[in-house]
Formats: sequence, structure tokens, C-alpha cells
Amino acid sequence: LVDSPIFAGKYFRKFDLTQDDKVSVTLNVMADQPEDLAATDAQIEAHKNLVKQANLLFGSHHYAHYDFLLALTNKLGGIGLEHHQSSENSGPRGYFTHWDKTFGMRDLLAHEFTHSWNGKYRRPDGLWAPDFNTPQRGTGLWVYEGQTQYWGYILAARAGLMTVPQVKEALAEVAAVYDNRQGRQWRPLIDTTNDPIIAQRSPESWRSWQRSEDYYSEGQLVWLDADTLIRKLSGNTKSLNDFAKAFFGTNNGSVVTSTYNFDEIVKTLNAVQPYDWAKFLHERLYNTSTHAPLDGFTRGGASVVYTEKPSDYIKSYSDLRHVSDFMFSLGLTVSKKGTVSEVLWGSPAWQAGVTRDQDLVAVNGVSYDPDALQDEITTAKNKDAAPIELLLRDGERYHTVSVTYHGGLRYPHLEGNTQLLDTMLAPLGAQKDAAGK
Ligand SMILES: [Zn+2]
Repeated sequence: LVDSPIFAGKYFRKFDLTQDDKVSVTLNVMADQPEDLAATDAQIEAHKNLVKQANLLFGSHHYAHYDFLLALTNKLGGIGLEHHQSSENSGPRGYFTHWDKTFGMRDLLAHEFTHSWNGKYRRPDGLWAPDFNTPQRGTGLWVYEGQTQYWGYILAARAGLMTVPQVKEALAEVAAVYDNRQGRQWRPLIDTTNDPIIAQRSPESWRSWQRSEDYYSEGQLVWLDADTLIRKLSGNTKSLNDFAKAFFGTNNGSVVTSTYNFDEIVKTLNAVQPYDWAKFLHERLYNTSTHAPLDGFTRGGASVVYTEKPSDYIKSYSDLRHVSDFMFSLGLTVSKKGTVSEVLWGSPAWQAGVTRDQDLVAVNGVSYDPDALQDEITTAKNKDAAPIELLLRDGERYHTVSVTYHGGLRYPHLEGNTQLLDTMLAPLGAQKDAAGK
């Protein structure tokens, strides 16, 4: 019962993703409306490629059969939940029919599939218990979720679920979010592995100061850092692909959980590429710092820059979350209903006293509208421009704050040489270097 979830829906299609090894993999799609099930052959091919690329990466599988459950619905709450031989996933109604607009969540199936290897088969020893009465410790979540987050994006690109430019835009957004997260100054990444216990899986109010389950996406940046470092040190003959095969690819076909500890991670990394990996990981997990670990970008000659145009990824992701993103300019996001959903600690909005859950009623005396706020931010680029006046509603009380800001709209992008990333995101089997063998 624990590993056999059920999704039910009136409209249903089943797609066979089975590879040459004849081990059954199926994509089971439930939808609100029959037209939402209109998947094209190319779209199903990308899902087949996910299975192919995962098997090439890990060199094994740990399921007798695997069943993706995917609900395309506005009626259910969002879910992405891993099981050993299946996963529960939900997506927007336009998952297939608005393929070019809904890619902002299309690492999801790759993420949950990866968990069959990373999380269900190989599991940090603190997260394994002989029964459901024994408490678990989440110290190893930076591998369980962090590296899964990493492979989720990489496999999405290799399979064609997302394009390479889309994944690079997604990585730029992750880099920007964590580089601007001021909570890192007092709270080391490893401490965020306690968040599922402290916060019941819902971020605290001041996410950028209190931090949240940062081991997911900052963990992803740590693994990007490690992957590029292995590639550099080995002269592009080794990569994190080799780690994945060595660590997760053992005992092909076995569904028995195999536990590990920090030392085994270090030992396996050292077997791939000798280096002081214990120090590397300790610095990134246990130290506080002012900046996110972004060497995974700079090592290949890329850097995160901010421009006035949002990337397609930010547009897709913001639409899926029903928010307007002004995070790196004024320092806030606003829901479609006009409620401030997040305020960046230390940002101009924060300095003016804006807090989460206030309603943004008007901007410079005119009813709030995301496009109009964009225009006002752009107009305020002029150094002589007056502060931007925000009329906020807090329950039954209204008040106005003045935000002094002349920096214009700012959205993250990757600039410079991204050739190394392109190589890493290319499908296995098509790469000629040893890292892709
Ligand atoms: Zn996960």
C-alpha cells in the first residue's frame, strides 16, 4: 500500500515508454478534459528518452516495472512524490497542449524518476528506518534531493522534455535566487535539512532570511560545482555521470534499499577523481557565506547577469505559479490577485516596510496591474524620478509606502561561455568525450 498509489480520473490515456530491455515503464495520464490528453508523438518520444537517458546515466534500474502517474488538472493540489516503482505527479492542463508555455515544470517527471535510484534504492542512513515508528534524520537530503534536483534538470534537457536554452535559463534563475538569499549569512545549508521537521514543508514567512528547504536547489548548485570540477580536474575524461553510475548503478534489478553515509559519498567521488572532496563538501554544507556556490558557472566561463527582459523560463514559471516576479528589482513577487507573496530581505521593498500577505492595491495612485508596475519601475530609472508609491492593504487598514529605487527591471540570465554546460546537457550516447560514455 505504501508503494502502490492510485490516481483516478474520468479521462485517461496510457503511453508505453518501455525500452529494449523490455522492463515495463508506462506514463499514465489523467486529465480534467479529454482534449488535455492530446499528446503528440514527439512529446511522448521525449518521455521515452527520459527512460533511455536515465538508464544510460545510471547503468541500471531498480524497479520490476515503473509507472508514472500524471494528473493534468486545476482541481487537485500540486504534487510530485517519489516511490520506488512509481511516482505521483501533477501538471497544468496545458502540459501537452501548451508545450512551449508549460516547460517551467517539466523537470518534474525527471526528478521523481531519478528518485527511484537516488532516494529509494540508495538512501542516506539517517533516512532509513526499520519501521514507521522510528524517527528519521534528514542530514543527507542535500544528496537525496539536491542531486535529484540536479539530475532532474540535466535529464530533462538530455531527453528533450526541456530545451538546452530553457534549462540554462532555469539554472540562471536558481543561481540568482540563492545568491540573493541573505539567510545564508547565518544559516548553513546543512541546517536547512531540518526544515521538513521545523516547518512542515511550508516555508517560513521570511524565506530569504529564514531560508527554507534550500538543500534542493542550492544542493543542485553544489553538484553542478562538483560536476564541472571533476570535468576540469580530469581534463574532461570524467564527470558526475561516472559518480552516478558507480554510486546508484550497483545491483541492477534490486529493489532492496542500500544505505550510505557522508564518507561513502567522499570515497566514491575520490574514486572518480582524486580531490579533497570532504573539504569541498564541508565548506559548501557547513559554512555560512555571503554568496551561493556559483563556480559551476564561472568554471566554464559563464556568469549570471541581470537584464530588463525576463527569460522565457521566468515567464513560464511565473505563469505556472500565478505570480508576477519583481524579485531582483523592487524585491517582491505579487500573486495574480494582487497579494504580495514574497519580499526579498534587504531589498528596496523590504527597506520601505513591505511585508508578505499585504495586498498591493495601487502603484503611484493607479490600481495595481503587473504591466503598469513594470512601466513605473522603468520610469523610475531616471535618478531624479520620485520614489514609487505603493498603496498597501493590511486587513482593514490601508497605508502608503515610498520605495526609492532607480535600478530598473532586473531578471537573471547566463552570459559568456556556456559550452561546458551545453556539453553536460547533451544526450548521452551522442557525446564523444569519456564523460558521456
Ligand atoms: Zn524530490
